[in-house]
Amino acid sequence: MDKVTLRKYEALGPFEIKNDLAKLATESSKASSIAYLNAGRGNPNWIATEPREAFFLLGQFAILESKRVLDLPPGVGGMPRKDGVAARLEAWLAKHPDMPGASVLAAMVPWAVAKFGFDGDAFVHELVDSIIGDNYPVPDRMLVHNEKIVREYLQWAMCGEPRPKGTFHLYAVEGGTAAMCYIFKAMKTNRLLNAGDTIALGTPIFTPYLEMPHLEDYDLRIVNIQARQEERWQFGDAELKKLLDPKIKAFFLCNPGNPSAVALSEATIARIGAILKKRPDLILLTDDVYGTFVPGFRSLLGAFPYNTIGVYSYSKYFGCTGWRLGVIAVNEKNLFDDLIARHPEAVNKKLDKRYGGLTLEPRKIAFIDRIVADSRDVALNHTAGLSLPQQVMMSLFSLYELMDEKKHYQKACIGIVKKRVQATLEGLGINPDPNPLFDYYYGLVDLEFWLKKYVGPEVVAWIREHVHPLDIVFRLAEDYGIVLLNGGGFEGPDWSVRVSFANLDDHVYDDIGRAVRAIARGYVQAYEASKPAPPKRGKAAVAKARSGKSRVGKAPARKARSRRA
Ligand SMILES: *Cc1c(COP(=O)(O)O)cnc(C)c1O
Repeated sequence: MDKVTLRKYEALGPFEIKNDLAKLATESSKASSIAYLNAGRGNPNWIATEPREAFFLLGQFAILESKRVLDLPPGVGGMPRKDGVAARLEAWLAKHPDMPGASVLAAMVPWAVAKFGFDGDAFVHELVDSIIGDNYPVPDRMLVHNEKIVREYLQWAMCGEPRPKGTFHLYAVEGGTAAMCYIFKAMKTNRLLNAGDTIALGTPIFTPYLEMPHLEDYDLRIVNIQARQEERWQFGDAELKKLLDPKIKAFFLCNPGNPSAVALSEATIARIGAILKKRPDLILLTDDVYGTFVPGFRSLLGAFPYNTIGVYSYSKYFGCTGWRLGVIAVNEKNLFDDLIARHPEAVNKKLDKRYGGLTLEPRKIAFIDRIVADSRDVALNHTAGLSLPQQVMMSLFSLYELMDEKKHYQKACIGIVKKRVQATLEGLGINPDPNPLFDYYYGLVDLEFWLKKYVGPEVVAWIREHVHPLDIVFRLAEDYGIVLLNGGGFEGPDWSVRVSFANLDDHVYDDIGRAVRAIARGYVQAYEASKPAPPKRGKAAVAKARSGKSRVGKAPARKARSRRA
């Protein structure tokens, strides 16, 4: 594809460019009968089966409970009753021990009752009544038992050690997607972020964080806090020091990164802590969707609960993107309530008006409850909240993980993506140092970094001048039927690509690695061909490439198992 056409794509985000890449890749894979491989999406291709079995079995029991109350032909039931429901569930499960999910469910209820001190009937009734979905969500923020369960789950999934002080208040929402929308909106309505304000983004970052601030709704200015491959995708000192500027109201980041797939190190967290000492009013927003892929993960939510809004999604880890399960977490003692209380009287008068219909004391509404109200334009606060069957699934996913003391499920998930990373690296012929903070979910392959390392800086300079950054992804689609996302779209390095290790069969990943390598080799060859000098006067890089020492320049071994259908 020519440069002029590629330039047109510069205005588009990577997920939008991906649509055209997918079309191109489909066509070319048909034309040359190679497999179409779309490693652009983060949707995992595995699912957690056992908590789902428990869910569907619980649904069967819940219908029986409904019919116990009222069973009117042709199919009118009643609302399940609380008294004695825990014992009825136990007896029913004992009668059907071979039903899928029976053993998980039978173990789960007493485990939760013991762990959280629940009243058995109250807990089981919440599950049964909610899976039926015969009531509005009450409390609208989150069901009582579900909140306690998920709070404990987040301690494991996000917070790490030591356990942060205070209790987190949670709002169950329709995935990380809704969490982001609701938080942005409530920050604006509560004047925590105003048009023209500046926020910092930890880049590279999941593109919606780059795009949303520019909407006319928010009109925010952005300062990038850039992580680099040279620093193993940690934020360097100089970058973090930008946060000392009091103009910067908030720092938004994904941890572990998307696309960098690396979690913040202890040292980076400590550096952010040092910044907060001087900037106690700095708002932190952390999106930790991939935290469960890094054993021992520590979120800023765990380290700095006062300053931090936490976003979590079940989508990736449990393979449940279609369920739309996410949570917003705010500590009971938090900066946001304090900032709102400190607003000038005129601003708080306006907010009194906004929330005055909900309570006689609108100034006492906590920020997290304002997020709930704003998510339904305040006026529909009484019908706010995540659907109850979704909240049941959330409880079951969380309990399933909490009960898994040996972390078998976590190990299995990490095992899947790890294998695919290894296959890709073999195809690529690169050898990055192992990193215990790497989550294996994505990989950002930075051609500049690897060509500089394996071939030399001259070829990188030549590429900068002669190759459009989007050339790589279009070439991959056109010549190899492969879809990857351009790293530049995430504010990552221009000549980089993001590979998702989540969504394709294991055996295709070495092909993807080989294809990226072949494109890099093509650039090296084009660079060499552009040089008029004979080999003996050639620069070291050329000699190195020609001698076969360069791994990028070397022809890849042909694969025994061909991708040709
Ligand atoms: C996938 C993803 C989300 C969206 O999650 P959903 O729960 O599916 O809406 C949010 N943030 C990041 C960083 C993600 O990668």
